[in-house]
Amino acid sequence: MNPWIAKALVLAATVVMIAIRAPHGHGSRRVKVIKSHKTPLEAVLLILAWVGFLVPLIWIASSAFSFAEYPLRSGPLISGVVCFVIGLWLFYRSHADLGTNWSITLEVREQHGLITQGVYHRIRHPMYSALVLYGVAHALVIPNWVAGPSNLVAFAVLFALRVRAEERMMLEQFGDEYTAYIARTKRLVPGVW
Ligand code: SAH
Repeated sequence: MNPWIAKALVLAATVVMIAIRAPHGHGSRRVKVIKSHKTPLEAVLLILAWVGFLVPLIWIASSAFSFAEYPLRSGPLISGVVCFVIGLWLFYRSHADLGTNWSITLEVREQHGLITQGVYHRIRHPMYSALVLYGVAHALVIPNWVAGPSNLVAFAVLFALRVRAEERMMLEQFGDEYTAYIARTKRLVPGVW
C-alpha cells in the first residue's frame, strides 16, 4: 500500500488532536495555578513528549527516516485507524470532563475540583489511556521503525515516571476523597489496571 495513506491519516489525527487541546489550553491558562509540582524531571519529560510528537511529523515532511521504512499492510492500518478513533474520542471526552482543571504538567489550580464523573468514573487517567491508544495507532499506521513507535515510547516513559507523582499530588490535595476514588477505580483500563 502507498505510505501516503499513512501520512494523510497521521496528519489528520494530529490536526484533530491539536483542535481538541487548543481551546482547553487557552481556557485553563486563565485559571490561576496555586500549587506547581513542575520538577526538573517533569520539564525533561515534557521535552521528550514533544520529541515523540514531532518525529512522525518529520517523517511526513522529509525522507530523514527512509532507512527504517517497511511495507504498509492493510491489517495494521485498519487496526491503527480504530485506535486513532477511540483514542481521539477519549482525548476529547477527558478534556471536556476535566475542564479548567487540566494542566500540561502537575499543577493544582484555583478552585480545583476532583473530577470523578464521565470518563473519570471508572479510570483515574483517561487522558493517558487516550494517549496510549494514540501512540499505539502511530505504531500500527506508520510503516517505519523509528517514526512509528516514537510517540508510544515517549509517552510510556512520561507515564511511568509521572503517574505516581501525580497521584501523590492529588492525595495531598484531596486526601480521603482521593483515597476513596483510588479504591473504586483503575488507572488506565476499566476493571483491569
Ligand atoms: N491524569 C489525568 C489528567 C491529566 S492532565 C488523565 O489522564 O486523565 C494533568 C492534570 O490533571 C494534573 O496536573 C492534575 O492537576 C489534574 N487531574 C488529574 N486527575 C484529576 C481529577 N480526577 N480531577 C481533577 N483534576 C485532575
